[in-house]
Amino acid sequence: MSDPSKRCLNCQDSFQNFQRPQGDALEFVVARVGVADSGKYWRCGRSGCRRVQNYFNYQDGFDLPPLL
Ligand SMILES: [Zn+2]
Repeated sequence: MSDPSKRCLNCQDSFQNFQRPQGDALEFVVARVGVADSGKYWRCGRSGCRRVQNYFNYQDGFDLPPLL
């Protein structure tokens, strides 16, 4: 239904394969945006990038803390 490829501002505005956050990363997202909106936030799949952003608005995002 939807294409997970999105622009990532942390990756020089390139298109990256985004994935749903898992585990501790998902908990961080829920704590940050609330459980109701947490499903909209996907994580950049590039190794070393910790950006999570709104699936529907790539400019609405934030970084996961180190180690998540
Ligand atoms: Zn990225």
